[in-house]
Amino acid sequence: MPSLSNRVQTFTDSVIRRMTRISDEHGAINLSQGFPDFNPPREILDALAKAAHAGPHQYSITFGAENFRQALARKQSRAIGREIDPETEIVVTCGGTEAMMCAMMTICNPGDKVMVFSPFYENYGADAILSGADPIYIPLVPPEYGFDMELVEAGFRQGAKAIIVCNPSNPCGKVFSREELLGIGELALKYDAFVVTDEVYEHMVYAPRRHICMASLPGMFDHTITCNSLSKTYSITGWRLGYLVGPEEVVEGAKKVHDFLTVGAAAPLQEAAVTGLEFPENYYDQLLAVYTKKRQYFLDGLDRIGLKHNVPQGTYFVLIDIQDFLDLPQFKGWTDLEFCEWMIVNIGVAAVPGSSFFKEEVNHLIRLHFAREESTIDEALSRLSKLTELLK
Ligand code: GLN
Repeated sequence: MPSLSNRVQTFTDSVIRRMTRISDEHGAINLSQGFPDFNPPREILDALAKAAHAGPHQYSITFGAENFRQALARKQSRAIGREIDPETEIVVTCGGTEAMMCAMMTICNPGDKVMVFSPFYENYGADAILSGADPIYIPLVPPEYGFDMELVEAGFRQGAKAIIVCNPSNPCGKVFSREELLGIGELALKYDAFVVTDEVYEHMVYAPRRHICMASLPGMFDHTITCNSLSKTYSITGWRLGYLVGPEEVVEGAKKVHDFLTVGAAAPLQEAAVTGLEFPENYYDQLLAVYTKKRQYFLDGLDRIGLKHNVPQGTYFVLIDIQDFLDLPQFKGWTDLEFCEWMIVNIGVAAVPGSSFFKEEVNHLIRLHFAREESTIDEALSRLSKLTELLK
């Protein structure tokens, strides 16, 4: 067989999504890939039923249906504190995943350096490879997941074209403070670089933290590419609706990349999702209240059964420390991936091995999420308590 491209040989499939497949094979409770097990809001489902008959069923405009972009622009203008032009400053993509890839392909030439915080959402590794960029990793240091601004400046000094900021951060739950964002922003301006943000968890930021859009900070709109998605906010991860917001020149480039990658996001789904984008502000308050409650419920449960964990400031992910298990004779020398595979089969709960998020050699963390009904969380905790019994 003729050889394949070098590019596809330099990264693996997504471990997050692989864990879902293994979990499904074994009928485990899937707390690996982050998506809710509850329905989207009723109004969105009704709008979908209506779109099934009334359409549209053919291509929408490649960079997004007009009414969808207009609704997005209204929502994001409020978040960014600036009138966003739906014609020139937005591209609708197939999920936040395409938005990120599209942003990277739009700004990077092969060999360009891009800073990535570690731990990072695993897609960024593949985004860098596919766009030809060389990542410079900036460690986020537990337990607070703070970072050294000097390292960020050093990265820009080495010529980094951009820095990727996942805020709130998957998988560590960090919410960047205003001061941190201002610091990064100042450096991006000083070195004339871009900030690419991934803000898909913008509405899951727990008190007293608040979400701040990088693009809303003074002077930053022209240097920021904001990537986002409707997946988490409206519980529609399978609809694959994402978008990118940025200055006109960037968006012009991104429209071309997107046009030839995917042509467009699903037209009937865009039509139905407009209903969600037009929800009043209290929808987002309620969503946050739901996740705030789930977070507490899950963290209390983890404490009760004795699993060590971080406390996420945002997102629905929790990192669990499995070192005590790896020190047991039966798990000696195991990787976190082997541990997660064992856990699916023997405990009936799926997690993501932490090593898929870290540049550093990290083998003692696994990621769980709590976007689940309380009854499912109860069952997962009861299964996980069989794990902690091994320590007794
Ligand atoms: N963000 C989700 C996670 O980290 C997955 C998103 C996806 O698979 N596209 O689990």
